[in-house]
Amino acid sequence: MPVRCQRTIRNETTARGIGFLTGADVTLRFLPAPENHGVVFQRVDLSDQPCVPATHEFLVSRQRRTAISGNGATIELVEHVMSALAGLQVDNCLVQLDAPETPGFDGSCQPVVDALLLADFENQTATRRILRVARPLHVTSEDGSMIDARPFGRDGLTITYMLDYGSNSPIPAQSYTVDVTPETFVNEIAFARTFILDSEIASLKALGYGPRTTSHDLLVFTADGVLENELKAADECARHKILDCIGDFALTGCDVQGYFNAWRTGHQTNHELMRQLKDVCVDKDRETLVA
Ligand SMILES: [Zn+2]
Repeated sequence: MPVRCQRTIRNETTARGIGFLTGADVTLRFLPAPENHGVVFQRVDLSDQPCVPATHEFLVSRQRRTAISGNGATIELVEHVMSALAGLQVDNCLVQLDAPETPGFDGSCQPVVDALLLADFENQTATRRILRVARPLHVTSEDGSMIDARPFGRDGLTITYMLDYGSNSPIPAQSYTVDVTPETFVNEIAFARTFILDSEIASLKALGYGPRTTSHDLLVFTADGVLENELKAADECARHKILDCIGDFALTGCDVQGYFNAWRTGHQTNHELMRQLKDVCVDKDRETLVA
């Protein structure tokens, strides 16, 4: 992936759904934005309609999801929308929403991808910044999950995700590797839905989460398999984890280039790796940042 022009969407587009956390009806409106604007979320349901840029500076700590907060507004679960935008190389976009979270849809980002494809794209003049991995980096978390980044002999982003929760888990061990391009994103990643164990649901419901979310809105794994739903691919869970990585990497505001190898990681380790990548950038004004 050589240096490319930034791009935005040509027309306004919308996607609607129900929030996984609050059960709110949510409308997402995607609007074209000028070059170097980045992706910015705007809470139009709040009186002063505050904006929050989707970058690491506005990241807030959450369990098992990615959220941003600033200027008096918080937006939960931005990772799937960010993944759709990054996967389609939409660098500049104003994302308006009328709730504190993005819609959960079917647990994937396919409805956002469909909306963005309808809007069509417009190339801009400025070049997109690249964050290129120049030396190995490695992040592990307390539960033993890990992600590492390595230089690659060529341009582009390649992600391998290995998922193995042990032989007692209803989720079978699986892995997936993808060279991330708009084409592979649309064909191999965008449809992959998020997943949960049925044993985890009670505690989330006790916290008030998911009042309108059912087993049709994401993959629920039981000892007998997927509850009231069917896998779209045997390795759908690993593909979804790659979808999450792409969304989390997009908070750098750059095209990340390198080879990433993830083992059971989640959002926190993804964010930590990106923080380390950005911290070692020698010249933040150059078009290509070498980490
Ligand atoms: Zn996800």
